Amino acid sequence: MAERMRTVSGPAPPPGAGPTLEALLRRCVQCGLCLPVCATWLASGDETYSPRGRLLLTGQWLAEPEAALGDASWRDALDTCIGCRACSAVCPSGVPHELLEAAAGAARAGRAASGARWLVPLLERPAWLRALGVAAAAGRAAFTVALGRNWRARGERLPALRRLARLVGTVPRAPGSDQRLLRRLDGLAGGAATKPGPLPVVPGPREKLLWFRGCADEGLLPDSARRLRDLLAWAGADLDATAPTACCGALAEHGGCAGRAAGLRARNLAAWGDGSPAAAIVTAAAGCGVAIRDYGPALPAPQIDAIAWLARRARPPFGSVPLRVALHDPCHARHGQGLVAEPRDLLRAIPGLTLLEPDEADVCCGSGGLWSLAHPQLAAEAGRRKAAVLAGTGADLVVTANPGCLGQIADGLALRGGPAVIPLGDLLWYAAMRAPAAAAGRPPGPLAVPPACT
Ligand code: SF4
Ligand code: SF4
Repeated sequence: MAERMRTVSGPAPPPGAGPTLEALLRRCVQCGLCLPVCATWLASGDETYSPRGRLLLTGQWLAEPEAALGDASWRDALDTCIGCRACSAVCPSGVPHELLEAAAGAARAGRAASGARWLVPLLERPAWLRALGVAAAAGRAAFTVALGRNWRARGERLPALRRLARLVGTVPRAPGSDQRLLRRLDGLAGGAATKPGPLPVVPGPREKLLWFRGCADEGLLPDSARRLRDLLAWAGADLDATAPTACCGALAEHGGCAGRAAGLRARNLAAWGDGSPAAAIVTAAAGCGVAIRDYGPALPAPQIDAIAWLARRARPPFGSVPLRVALHDPCHARHGQGLVAEPRDLLRAIPGLTLLEPDEADVCCGSGGLWSLAHPQLAAEAGRRKAAVLAGTGADLVVTANPGCLGQIADGLALRGGPAVIPLGDLLWYAAMRAPAAAAGRPPGPLAVPPACT
């Protein structure tokens, strides 16, 4: 009862949307195919935290919105949905996405003070994120001094420190400068040291693109963001990064601040104007990509993910990288933008690289932006599970293309002594740096993907 008194009513189903959502709900045949891809069901084993269970609860909201919104367990079941869209990708009836997002949005809007909502204005600013990165690095150093090198495992056993240790451990850790990254990857790959220097300008057709500055990439992984821009330029992009854009609005949306998200959307659209003469708006973080794609017809140019653009673009060949690499697909890339073949095609085009496919590739790692802060226990379970399947591949290195996934997976892998994880763009940049000089200066050619991969 005390919990109910602290809450306010959330929104009922939008006017006119009720019958549409009900018709969608009736298409669910309760087959349960969506359960094994749901990170919260896998972490909890509780049907309430599964897509099918949440859909039943969504039916209650459609029938009796006030009763559903007044029930703390109803709100908890919907609020714990990560919004990863893994269930939508496997559902044969095309059911969950729209329904779950509407009901989860109502559950979040109905909370008087979301646990993590106050963080939204801070995490939307690269400067604050830079400060967070510095604070997390100091926290990791302090934990190492106080608890030793295996501070994550020891922190897990200390209830007073567990949450802080996880927070510090999951803030994405930047791979650092070019020299540092080259040293690290050369050490893993063996052989001669890769010569530092700028990527060559390749002759051939070029395309104008608007570069969208993602807050987390710019704030927490600035060197990696710059290397990705260099890679795009190497492959033929003329990037325009001058539009004074703001955060894409994804954090505000997930934090239940719909008005703030709408304001950011309007600001970005005004900054881009008519978009001309750019062919597309290119995004780096998968979450930003989906948020911007969802701006819909108001976008002055189509959104495209940087990895998708690189994969579709004819380009010069990569140099050899003799490493066994496991790829983690961010949900907003795999399920939100349908990017499955693109990162694999790029990795398979690197001579000497062995691409390893982990089990449960379509399951979320449990990062989910603000979600992991609001639901630390579920997030920790999901992160440990993801780290176990990635480490189980026997990879030398794990790559992914979303800052949140990077931090979550790095924490899980460090806890179990697994391989390092770096941004996918950094590995592609490294492969481009190792291209033989003659090949690097050649005009772009068609994508050559050797067929044999595990
Ligand atoms: S949502 Fe789709 S996959 Fe899940 S139980 Fe219903 S019909 Fe089956
Ligand atoms: S969106 Fe993700 S967390 Fe939510 S029900 Fe579907 S699979 Fe589970």
